[in-house]
Amino acid sequence: METVETGRQGPSGVRRVNPVEGFVGRMRRALAVRLSLWFGLVFVVCTTALFGALYWLLSGTLEAREHLLLEAKLDEYSAVYATRGAAGLQGAVSRDSAAPEQTSMFVRLTTARNEVTFARLPPDWVELRQVDVPMFGGQITRREHQGIVRVPRDAKRDFAFAERRQSDGSVLLVGRSTDNRQVLFEPLRRAFLVLSTAVVGLGFAGGVVFAYRTTRPIRQMVATARDILATGRLDARVPAPRREDELAELAGLFNTVLDRNHSLIRAMRESLDNTAHDLRTPLTRLRGTAEMALVPGAAEGAAREALADCMEESERVLKILDTLMDVTEAEAGMMRLHREDADLCALLREVAEVYEFVADDRGILVRLDLPANCVASVDPTRMRQVFGNLLDNALKYTPKGGAVRVSAECRADGALVRVRDNGMGIPIDEQDKIWTRLYRGDKSRSQRGLGLGLSLVKAVVEAHGGRVTVNSQPGEGSEFCVSVQKTAAG
Ligand code: ADP
Repeated sequence: METVETGRQGPSGVRRVNPVEGFVGRMRRALAVRLSLWFGLVFVVCTTALFGALYWLLSGTLEAREHLLLEAKLDEYSAVYATRGAAGLQGAVSRDSAAPEQTSMFVRLTTARNEVTFARLPPDWVELRQVDVPMFGGQITRREHQGIVRVPRDAKRDFAFAERRQSDGSVLLVGRSTDNRQVLFEPLRRAFLVLSTAVVGLGFAGGVVFAYRTTRPIRQMVATARDILATGRLDARVPAPRREDELAELAGLFNTVLDRNHSLIRAMRESLDNTAHDLRTPLTRLRGTAEMALVPGAAEGAAREALADCMEESERVLKILDTLMDVTEAEAGMMRLHREDADLCALLREVAEVYEFVADDRGILVRLDLPANCVASVDPTRMRQVFGNLLDNALKYTPKGGAVRVSAECRADGALVRVRDNGMGIPIDEQDKIWTRLYRGDKSRSQRGLGLGLSLVKAVVEAHGGRVTVNSQPGEGSEFCVSVQKTAAG
């Protein structure tokens, strides 16, 4: 990853990163900080919406309550006016004013021509008196559906009014100061601001800490990738996170991919070394043979023989190359298997038939102990190769007159194939090495072979998700067991 450098250019031409700018830049790019900021933003939006809804509901309820109160008062005063006229109304208003809870009630009666007959302004509305002239001169807004008239917002106080035209055309208006709403909401608003600031601050700090901890595997992956790029150390791995979540799984998969790549590269290097090493001998031989054939005056027969040797050697070289490629591919998990439901017994019979001639030639009895069929999901061509190599070895390393037994066991979940011979067996100290590429047993060098058969068998069986093992007693014989699942594992 490229590092963005900020700050001034130093005298040497190298850009120096200002530490503060560098820190700010890192924070801006840090996933933990960005996640917390986003969560903080979502939190602020949601809480504000919640508070807004609460505020709206509460103020709506209070407003409705006030309107009901005003309407009730208007009913009462209208009834008094209808029965006892303006004087009766004035008396009722004065009586009410004596009650402490009515002191903030405003009552005004105007004639049909808009002349004030009677008005009562509560004593605590003194402040309003300075603005009431233009207010009642038409600047007040009116909410027709409720009959409530409101003072504009900039009047600093809220007022609710209700008016009703009386039967004689005069208009009765009652009003109340709704300061109590302000009184109720102001602390609520302040508490919301303080609390939400504290919660957002704490939430952001806590969020950064938690997000920083949560995203640790990502930073470790970045550091590991950087390490590999910078040093070429292919064995660098992300420390296994002590938890089980998607990031831990990602880190695990990242390590698996690195393992796979590492083994692929190692296998490629090894196979390149092995190939170079193993090809040197046949190629030198090939060159020597060709040189001999090119010696001036060489007989035509000798030249033809040399050409035939050259062909044989090149066949050998090609076989080594092909098999090495197959082994490398299978070991690196890159071998393409064309799986199908194949009868392993039928494959074993086919292979035995191919080697019938060799067995007859060596006077070895091959006995097949197979059930009618045993179907498993395998690549038939590759499995033929496996069984062919095992049978070829059994025939190669068993002396004349020996016996080879090929058997298969079909179980519910898998199949087990055994190739057993009563040949020379494998020395105990060689039993681990026989699976290594190009390894040939000491006593086997007299036989034809490349030392690649068993490594191919192992690689192909393991590519199928199976296992191959050997059980051998020197001088008594060997038994190779191949076990494969009947269905391909996920
Ligand atoms: P190759 O047979 O070409 O030498 P393999 O990879 O097939 O190579 O086998 C590796 C070695 O394992 C052989 O050289 C031999 O020493 C030993 N080996 C394999 N199969 C048998 C067997 N059935 N009996 C005895 N030795 C065996």
